[in-house]
Amino acid sequence: MELEDLLKKNKLTEKQLERLQELKKILESNDVVQRYMALLDEEKKLRNELLNLRREIKFEEYEACSHVLVYSSRGGHRECVKCGLRDDVGVYNSILEVPWHSIDGIMYEFLKMYDFSGLDTDIACDPALAHAIYKRLQAVHPKISDEEILKYLQNALLHISTIPVNEERKQSRARRLSLNPDFSGWDSRHF
Ligand SMILES: [Zn+2]
Repeated sequence: MELEDLLKKNKLTEKQLERLQELKKILESNDVVQRYMALLDEEKKLRNELLNLRREIKFEEYEACSHVLVYSSRGGHRECVKCGLRDDVGVYNSILEVPWHSIDGIMYEFLKMYDFSGLDTDIACDPALAHAIYKRLQAVHPKISDEEILKYLQNALLHISTIPVNEERKQSRARRLSLNPDFSGWDSRHF
């Protein structure tokens, strides 16, 4: 676009903006609009409060959990099968890259303040599988001890890994464990 055209367009756009702002002012003096705007403010406040509460709840959960840890066969990070806390969130250089209210942001903040230790398996696996097995186990035996969880988990993971099954059986096993039907992280190993 030529300079002259650009200047014309600039003037026109400025005028449009002015008109729009005048219309806004007129609307803003209307009672209903004012009530609507107050609701928007209130909504924003409540959403923020919920995000803050979720952060606090997660902190409490992570702190109260006696972690049972597996190693991820992809990436090598550690992850708790009970509360889902992972230690690969620290790879972000700065919290600015992760929204503070995202789960990763919350984990990152938590791990800056607290140690991440617990019962360690000596197994590398897909943490999603370990988590699914734990959830099933916990549903059947809600009072099971961490040591028993650890033992059961190691046996189950290695068993699944070494017993060959066809694709159909794998899919139905994934369904039973509430994993994606095309879940493929069945292999676990000692390290
Ligand atoms: Zn945990």
